[in-house]
Parts: sequence; C-alpha cells; structure tokens
Amino acid sequence: MLTRELLRAEVVYNGLGTPRRDGAVVIQDDGRRRQVIAVQAAAEARRAFPDAVERDAGFALSPAPVNAHTHLDLSSMPYTAGSYPAFIDAVIRHRDGGARGLEAARRGLDEVLAGGVSVVGDIVTDEEVMRFLLGHPGVTGVAYWEVLGPDPARADEVFEATRRRLAHFRALERDGGVRVGLSPHTPHTVSAPLLQRLAALARAEAIPMQIHVAETADEVRLHRHGDGPLAELLGRFGVPWRASGRSPLGYLAELGVLDARPTLVHMVHVDEDDVRRVQHADCAVVHCPRSNAALGCGRFPWELYARFGVDVAFGTDSLGSSPSLAVTDEVAAARVVHGERASPQALVRAAVKGGYRALGMTPPRLLRGAEADGLFAWPVSTA
Ligand SMILES: [Zn+2]
Repeated sequence: MLTRELLRAEVVYNGLGTPRRDGAVVIQDDGRRRQVIAVQAAAEARRAFPDAVERDAGFALSPAPVNAHTHLDLSSMPYTAGSYPAFIDAVIRHRDGGARGLEAARRGLDEVLAGGVSVVGDIVTDEEVMRFLLGHPGVTGVAYWEVLGPDPARADEVFEATRRRLAHFRALERDGGVRVGLSPHTPHTVSAPLLQRLAALARAEAIPMQIHVAETADEVRLHRHGDGPLAELLGRFGVPWRASGRSPLGYLAELGVLDARPTLVHMVHVDEDDVRRVQHADCAVVHCPRSNAALGCGRFPWELYARFGVDVAFGTDSLGSSPSLAVTDEVAAARVVHGERASPQALVRAAVKGGYRALGMTPPRLLRGAEADGLFAWPVSTA
C-alpha cells in the first residue's frame, strides 16, 4: 500500500540555495522504499498532497548537520566552565591523569553518532585515536592531527616528525572515510617558522587544516601588546614570545598561513579587517557558541561574517567546555545568543552546508527521489 507523510518544520533545507521558512517534506512509502517526493512550502505541499498524513517535525528538516570542530579524546573530561587559562590548566591536568585517549574518543563518537550526525571535524592528539577514526566505517569528515611547537629552535625537528606521521596516517585513508588533516594548535603555541612550514605542506599536499584563532580578548592582547594572562601562561611554560603587534588573524595572514585556506575555529575577537582577510582568503570559520560562553570568551560577531559572506559552520568543541556533543544544541544556543541577528534559516544552512564546506566536502542534497533516510529531523532543543 502507498502511504504519504507530510512533515512540516519551521525551516526546511534541501542542501541547495536558501532554506525555506514554514516548509514541508513529503515522503512516500510504497512498502519497499521510503523516498522524498517533494520539498516545498508547507501550504503548497498540503494542496498538492491532500491525502498525506501531516506531522510536525520540529525546528528543522535537512540533511544531517556536521560537527565541524570537536576534541573527541576529551570526552571523559568533566565540564569545566571558567576562565580560558584555568581551562587550559584543567585540560593539562586531565591529560596528565591519563584520561585523554581512545576510550574517551570512542565514547564521544558514540554520542555523536547516536544523535544522527556522522560527519565530524575532530582534533586528534593520539595515534590510536587517529587509526580508530580512519578505520571507522560509520563516520566521515576530517581527523586533524594537532601540532604544538612554540620553540622556533625546534621547528625543523617538529616539522619533520609531523610530516612523517601524516604520511603514515594518510596511507590509512579509505574512500568515503575520514581524511587526515593537520591542526597547528593556535597562532601562539606554534612558532612562526613551524606555522609557515606546516601551512606550506598543507597547501602543497592538499591536506585540510584547522586552527584555533582569536578565541579570547586576551589572545588579541598577547598578539598586539605581548602582555596579559596569556603571556603569563606562556611564560609559565617557558615559551618565548614576541608580539607581532597585529591581530592573531593578521599575524597568520602576514606569515602566509591563510594561503593554505585553513578552517578558522572560534574567531570571536576579530575586526572588520580580519573578516575581510578571511573572505579574501576564502577560509571557512567554525562557531562554538556554548564553549565560548563557558570560557567567558564573548559573543561571536555573526552579523559581521554574514555581511562579508563568509561561510560559518558549527562545532561543539570538547565536553570539557560544552555540555553535549550535539551540534543541534549548539545551534539552539546560537539562536539565543544572536537573537534577531541570525535567522533560523541561516543557522540551519551554516550547520549543514557550512559544516561540509569547513571540512572541504560537498553537502548532500535532498531532492525529489532521495531516500528518506537522508532526512534529518532536528530535535526541538532548548540547549
Ligand atoms: Zn577546540
């Protein structure tokens, strides 16, 4: 028997163009296949399919969103809201306690997959976790190998070790599976010569790159003036630092790092010149609003990126600074944080298309004839 179901939602997005407000997806089930037969305005769908059983599908219907930035190996870290330097100390204590690694990554990935999301941008610090992600049949996206190396005197040594590791990991890539990426940690925990060499490698070998930038106001102060809480933190680790006098993003641009088109994570403390450079370099940005709130980072200037047409994606960051790994919760938080400045359609488009774009992938499309399995019904979340 043929049955038809009309699912309506506040936002309906087929992966192409602009998402629709008050839309509907009509699904036909002939007993063998469940397929999408229409994606249109709810009122039109009701007229076209009067026999369809109507159901409220919640906030949005779209291809599944992407979690474009997370640290799955921190999934056993307790949620630690507070200042950014205190958070970094907590991450180091947690790592030194031995709880950062494969078990945590498995648990985190299970949570992501249980939420219907299977495309992730994960920052990886452990070889076992890298092999786990590269071999996992149910997940795709990018596993970015994290590099720290603040001492310029060791830049060559760290670079060579990283290059060898990446080559080894890339031999384990599978078609349709997770790709190997590269993540210099931040513009101040990786020395200038190392940043330049890593960016040149990423560019030459088309390795996806992701970097945390302009997360806190203290980071801008560190780069512009060389003092403040982050300077003290670097000093405690014995890291040599000389301020460039530029913004963190301006510093990366000056070093030529933007030529590798890295995906830029956080990007809260930016000005118009920074965003213009991002647009010019054609980089995507990942927004992690709950982590930013937990660490007192301030509000991401959503409307500024929108004005320059920069692609924005969503990431949950780790469970250390975020209450869940659900990217839909991240979007719900963004609705609250940005209010009228971010339309529901733009948020959904960012979480889906922006996410694929941030990972260098093409978003799927939900066109007529598509399998209904590809349809993701967003939970009505209040985050
Ligand atoms: Zn992060």
